[in-house]
Amino acid sequence: MATTLSAPALSATDRCDRCNAQAYVRVVLPGGTDLLFCGHHWSRHEDALRPQAIEIVDETHRLTEKPAAED
Ligand SMILES: [Zn+2]
Repeated sequence: MATTLSAPALSATDRCDRCNAQAYVRVVLPGGTDLLFCGHHWSRHEDALRPQAIEIVDETHRLTEKPAAED
């Protein structure tokens, strides 16, 4: 199945580097450093990090999603 891009890349074990809450955003910087952020800290650092990042996995939409009841 070609679902690689939409499959969740972050799990409950991924934690925000700043506050240890569950991470919803992974930012990969040049050199391979990756940072994890919760929704709160991503919103605070997004403007600074987005121009530098080589990859951003943004799953903050999951913060507002209700548990899937429909299929
Ligand atoms: Zn945080």
